[in-house]
Amino acid sequence: LPAVFEPARPILQRIEQAGYEAYFVGGCVRDTILGDPIHDIDIATSAYPAEIKQIFNRTVDTGIEHGTVMILDHGVGYETTTFRTESGYQDFRRPDSVTFVRSLAEDLRRRDFTINALALKENGEVIDLFDGLGDLKRHLIKAVGEPAERFHEDALRMMRAVRFASKLDFQIDEKTRQGIQENAPLLEKIAIERIRVEFEKLLLGQNPTAGLKDLLVTDLYRYCPRLADQKMALEQLLDLKQWHLKTEAEAWAVLMQVMRFDHPQRNAFLKAWKTSNDLISDVQKIVPAVQAILNDQLTPKLLFDTGDRLLLSANRVAAMFGHSLEELDLRDRYQALPIKSTKELAVNGGQLIKLAHVKPGPKMGQILHQLQQQVLDRSLPNDQNALLAAAAQLAKEED
Ligand code: ATP
Ligand code: MG
Repeated sequence: LPAVFEPARPILQRIEQAGYEAYFVGGCVRDTILGDPIHDIDIATSAYPAEIKQIFNRTVDTGIEHGTVMILDHGVGYETTTFRTESGYQDFRRPDSVTFVRSLAEDLRRRDFTINALALKENGEVIDLFDGLGDLKRHLIKAVGEPAERFHEDALRMMRAVRFASKLDFQIDEKTRQGIQENAPLLEKIAIERIRVEFEKLLLGQNPTAGLKDLLVTDLYRYCPRLADQKMALEQLLDLKQWHLKTEAEAWAVLMQVMRFDHPQRNAFLKAWKTSNDLISDVQKIVPAVQAILNDQLTPKLLFDTGDRLLLSANRVAAMFGHSLEELDLRDRYQALPIKSTKELAVNGGQLIKLAHVKPGPKMGQILHQLQQQVLDRSLPNDQNALLAAAAQLAKEED
C-alpha cells in the first residue's frame, strides 16, 4: 500500500472487520499511481451510511442522501460513500436520487473515466475493471463504457474530460473525443456553477493549452457562458507560452486580457459565469495592474489600489504576455509607498471637519481622496499639519 494511504488504512480495516467491503477510490488512487500529490482520500464502501455511523464515533453527515458520510480520524476527514448506481438520469444532469448497491463493480461502472474508476484495497491490491492502469500509462482520458451514453447521462463529464486533459496533461481518447463533439450542445443543460468549477480547473491545470484545444476542437466552448463568440480570443490563449498561475482570479484575468473587455463587460462576463463578488473584485483590480505592468506604467496610485497580494497576481498574468517585473522589485516598490491604506493617512474625515473646517458631505470625501492622492505621489508629506493646511486650502477653493 502506498505510504500516503497508511494513516487511512485502519479505517478500511475497521469497516472490513464489521463485515463490509471498503476501498480507496477516485482521484487519490489515480494521482498516487501517477506519482502526483493527493489532496484528499475518498473511500467507497458496501456499508450504508447508517452502518458507517455505527462503526465510527466521529462522523459528519456531508451528503447522507448521496451516501456520503465523513469519518473524522486524528483530525483528518475521510469522505466515505456507499457503493451506488445513478439510474434514472433526466435532463442530462446528475440524478437527484441514487440507488445504493452492495457491489464495487457497479459503483466503478458509473464513474466517468477509466483512470477515475480504479479502486485500491487495504492490502495494496488495485482493482482495475476497465484498464484504467493501461490508460494511465498511455496518458489517456477514456470514458467508462459507451462515451455518448455516458455524456447523455451527465453532460458535465464532457467538461471534466477537457479539464483532466489539462490537469494531467493527458490526451482524450479518440472515441471519447467524438462523443464529446457529437454531444457538446448537451452542456447547456448543466448548471453554470458546475461548468465553472471544471473550467477553472482546466485553466489552472498542468497543460491548459491542451485542455483549451480540446475545448475548441470539440465545440464545447460554444456551450459555455459567453464563449460562443470568443473563438479568436480563445485561440490567442493557445499561443501563450508559460502558464504558471496560482489563483482562479489570475486565470480569469488571463481570459480578460485576450478578450480586451472594458470594466462593465468584464463584470457582465464574470456575472454570467456566476463567479463570486470577491472574485469579480479581484479580477477588476488585477486587469488594470496587468496592463500597467505590460506598459511600464505602474504608478503609486495603481500600486496602492491593487494591493500587494493582487500585484503579485497581476505580475504572474503579465509574465504570460511577455513582460513582468522581478517579484522582489515589485514588493520593494509596494513597500516604498508612503501609505498602504487610507487608514494610514495622517488625517481622517473627523479631523478635517474639526480642525480644517471642512463641511461634512461628499466634498469632504473628495478632499480626503485628493490628499491621499497627493501623499501617494509625494507632492504632500503624510503629516497631519501639512494635510490639514492643504485641506483648508482645498475647502476654500471649493466654496
Ligand atoms: P480531483 O483531484 O480534481 O478532485 P477527482 O477525480 O477526485 O479529481 P472529483 O470531482 O473529486 O474528481 O470526483 C471524485 C470521483 O468521483 C472521480 O474520480 C470519479 O470517479 C467520480 N466522479 C466525479 N464526478 C463524476 C461524474 N460527473 N460522473 C461520473 N463519475 C464522477
Ligand atoms: Mg476529488
